[in-house]
Amino acid sequence: MGAKTYYGIDPSTGKDLWEAPIATEEDLSNAVAAANDAFKEWSALQQQERSRFMKDFADHLEKHKDALTELLSKESADWSVPDIVQKDTEDVKIVVQHTPIGVVAGIMPWNYPFQLAILKMAPALATGCTIIVKPSPFTPYTALKIGEIAAEILPPGVVQVLGGDDNLGPWMTKHPGIHKISFTGSTATGKKIMAAASETLKRVNLELGGNDAAVVTEDFDIAEAAQLVATATFAHSGQICMATKRIYVHESIYDEFMKHLVAIVKSYKPGEGFYSPIQNKLQFEKVKSIYDDCEERGFNFAVGGGSKVSMHENRPGYFIAPAIVTNPPESSRIVQEEPFGPIVPVLTWRDDKEVVERVNDTPTGLGAIVYCRDEKRAWRISESLQTGSAWVNGGLKLDPVALFGAHKQSGIGGELGPLGLKYYTNTRTITYWKDKPEGTGAKSNKGLFA
Ligand code: NAD
Repeated sequence: MGAKTYYGIDPSTGKDLWEAPIATEEDLSNAVAAANDAFKEWSALQQQERSRFMKDFADHLEKHKDALTELLSKESADWSVPDIVQKDTEDVKIVVQHTPIGVVAGIMPWNYPFQLAILKMAPALATGCTIIVKPSPFTPYTALKIGEIAAEILPPGVVQVLGGDDNLGPWMTKHPGIHKISFTGSTATGKKIMAAASETLKRVNLELGGNDAAVVTEDFDIAEAAQLVATATFAHSGQICMATKRIYVHESIYDEFMKHLVAIVKSYKPGEGFYSPIQNKLQFEKVKSIYDDCEERGFNFAVGGGSKVSMHENRPGYFIAPAIVTNPPESSRIVQEEPFGPIVPVLTWRDDKEVVERVNDTPTGLGAIVYCRDEKRAWRISESLQTGSAWVNGGLKLDPVALFGAHKQSGIGGELGPLGLKYYTNTRTITYWKDKPEGTGAKSNKGLFA
């Protein structure tokens, strides 16, 4: 524990949690030096040796055995980015290799402290990078614990976790001993990170905010659609980057769909998964301001609304009741912004082309879900979306083999799958001119620019 500490807050009670350390600039420099030292040996290990360490690490995280621990142990532990032989002729062999970038800083938001820490560590370790993870100051504990477990298993300096205050992230982005930033968080912070990283030309992976839409066509079972849409919207009270934040329902099924959706959402009980607290006060105020904007502008609430029901009154903590706003103007904050909380607009549409244009009419492009049983039409709609992911007939599922990336202001680069590893590497092209008898041309590099 460093000299300075603070206390996190339990969002369901508003009370203090445990003491947590605040790293100083010197703590960061020591961690960076250790990570650079460790990089020399860690990056030189064979893939199989690194994967043995990773499997061991995953076994020690037993308590949290879930899909992402599996990712650490079974999937990316065995993945690699193989050399590509681009040309191999009588004269020349050209090989593109992927070499580990070096020391990675993993900067995380507060919404999934365990999963996101693993998501940052797995590709870094698999490619031979070392990593320093910085959890959000709102949720430091899980990542710090993972750091302790990592230190028992991995060589010193390979995985380190530093908790801190608002200074730590900016210190990381400017530190010359860090070679890549893998960031998950808001678009606004992502832009600051990219600007700061340009000073030292650090590589960046940015997994940012989104404004994901659900498109429900008229051929999908209406009750099932309402259930799937409700889950994708209100799980974790909407505090998921790829949660549905705009619901577009075909006008011919709108009334029936709303009957089902309203009944489902009204059944949510405070304290349960679909009606959990907002994680922190800052975020609570942000969601509340969008809620208040809808009320002040007189939008129609199908669930929630009215100052009495908007907050859960007799409960401490940062609870906001789930709310559905029907057909607000497309230009309103609730349609244009990412609330990252339990309030969502439902809008109607008539024509496929029109709905695709409305879904794409946003500066972000993280994901979208299409509910459509006509396969050809479902592909046509999905392929017209300007998003990193499009799920058809079910969302909120990430398969560890598939790249999770983004379009537009939702990010740069990507995570997961063998393709995700590429972003933790630099490429190197080796052009090897083969020895040939005098006078045959190879030694003069003839044809180099031909
Ligand atoms: P945030 O951007 O406020 O903070 C994220 C992290 O960045 C924190 O650790 C914070 O301390 C750090 N930070 C803040 N300013 C910094 C700076 N100038 N330099 C370096 N680091 C800095 O985001 P948040 O409120 O914690 O998380 C919510 C956001 O995260 C939402 O917009 C959500 O969509 C997004 N998110 C995206 C994904 C994804 O995969 N695309 C996943 C989860 C969350």
